[in-house]
Amino acid sequence: MAPKDELLSECLRQQKPDESEEVEEQTAWRDKFLHGVYHRQIEKVADIKTYQWLENAGLTDSTEALIIAAQEQALSKRAREARVYHSRSDPRCRLCKDASETVQHIVAGCTMQAGSAYMERHNQVPGIVYRNICTQYRLKVPKSQWDTPPKVDENNRAEILWDFSFQTDKQLLANLPDIVVVDKYQERAVVVDVAIPANSNISKKEHEKVEKYQWLKEQLGQMWKVKVDVVPVVVGALGAVTPKLGEWLWQIPGTTSEASVQKCAVLETAKILCRILKLRGLW
Ligand SMILES: [Zn+2]
Repeated sequence: MAPKDELLSECLRQQKPDESEEVEEQTAWRDKFLHGVYHRQIEKVADIKTYQWLENAGLTDSTEALIIAAQEQALSKRAREARVYHSRSDPRCRLCKDASETVQHIVAGCTMQAGSAYMERHNQVPGIVYRNICTQYRLKVPKSQWDTPPKVDENNRAEILWDFSFQTDKQLLANLPDIVVVDKYQERAVVVDVAIPANSNISKKEHEKVEKYQWLKEQLGQMWKVKVDVVPVVVGALGAVTPKLGEWLWQIPGTTSEASVQKCAVLETAKILCRILKLRGLW
């Protein structure tokens, strides 16, 4: 009603903070010692799209709240209970007992979860990419996200390899990407490898993935006589993405949106947080 009602319009005008106050508020949030940690960590490596999952991923309010609380270090972890509230003497992680139990440790640094919870989270993201590639080439799409795709599938247009180990006599070289797809008409292959690292590591991880698969790129190029591209798909455990993610996804056949892989990563991280911090009521 405000635009039509003089009294309400005047009230709104007087209540609206002027621009300098808004800037001050933002600065205050970023500079907060604890709540601004995430922002400071990703400031130099992440894109503004890092926060787009809040608008278009369609997650429930409680999941969004949980991830934002994790970003702002507002969850009760043992490190905080020990060092801030002094309600506990041991700040170490309840699972591995190796490091302080911080949000960063729980979502991306705990050795006890590397082979299980992190692996499960990791596998969901290439699963999305795989299904989109299959749709593009009319290959058989796995019925659900829990179905493990076949190691090899092909038709007259494309061949797709899932979690396929390429033979190498040099043991240290990377030979196990998440997906390799060959477009038979375009004579082009794409090697896709996914990572969900700590948020501050996203840029470094993208670079690492490209470097790591250079040997495989050369081998496949010689073997199949096609042009080969290596494409990293990296999303931080709390949703951070680099400005390059869109370009990388665009190089993969099929249509995979940035928001869809972000949604998948944060949803799986929310499950990890709920389970470890025993936040079942929130879920
Ligand atoms: Zn741990």
